[in-house]
Amino acid sequence: MGDLANLDGKVAIVTGGTRGIGLAIARRLAAAGAKVTVCGRSAQAIDGLEVVACDVRDPDAARAMVDAVAAKHGRLDILVNNAGGSPEAPLATSSPRLAERVVALNLMAPIYLSQAAHPHMQATGGSIVNIASVSAERPSPGTAAYSAAKAGLIALGRSLAHEWGPAIRVNAIVVGYIETEATEATYGDAAAQAAIARNIGAQRLGRAGEIAEATLFLASPASSYVTGAALDVHGGGERPP
Ligand code: NDP
Repeated sequence: MGDLANLDGKVAIVTGGTRGIGLAIARRLAAAGAKVTVCGRSAQAIDGLEVVACDVRDPDAARAMVDAVAAKHGRLDILVNNAGGSPEAPLATSSPRLAERVVALNLMAPIYLSQAAHPHMQATGGSIVNIASVSAERPSPGTAAYSAAKAGLIALGRSLAHEWGPAIRVNAIVVGYIETEATEATYGDAAAQAAIARNIGAQRLGRAGEIAEATLFLASPASSYVTGAALDVHGGGERPP
């Protein structure tokens, strides 16, 4: 039957793949054999990956990037909508413009990119993986726009699984607290991180590589009967209060 997670000959795009979780995903897909293009708003060379600059909140730029990758390699098999995030922004005191930017990055960009990927994937088949968050299901205070966008991202996959199946599979990963270069800025110092870890089933924060393994599963034929799913990779999540 062969190695179902082998991506030899496949072409992938990972948005926000220049650092953090996205970079771990891109490296894992490349190690499995895929030709991987990553993007950020800024682009610096990364060994083994093609790096392009693209602000995915701009629908024309998002489409141009997808078309360029597909034209260069003659196909597109995998799209990982990973670029995302948000400053803490209590809705009552933040501007409509900020909420709009958060939704643009975390929900509208994956919509634009999926629309752009659709014609390339329709004939040959494809897999779209949306990087969501535990915030979609259990939001913390100050994350209303972000949490709403991530919940929308999960719903987007459930819907597209039907609209675009069976050729294109669309799934989400419900990401828990992950250690990255930005962990301290996001979750606070070591004591704050230890307090978070005590409430998680796995008793620790997750690693970017653990999200990368789940992404490889959803991107590859190993998950051929999985679509419209939201896969929890959150160490069991937080204990209910
Ligand atoms: P980082 O902030 O470390 O990296 C974000 C990446 O996205 C960078 O490559 C950045 O590059 C790129 N990016 C940001 N804005 C844009 C844009 N407008 N257009 C194109 N690229 C952009 O993020 P993480 O690795 O922490 O998070 C990755 C994903 O995982 C996000 O969707 C996040 O919501 C989700 N997540 C993360 C968790 C965590 O604990 N870290 C928890 C739950 C979910 P550049 O700055 O050059 O644009």
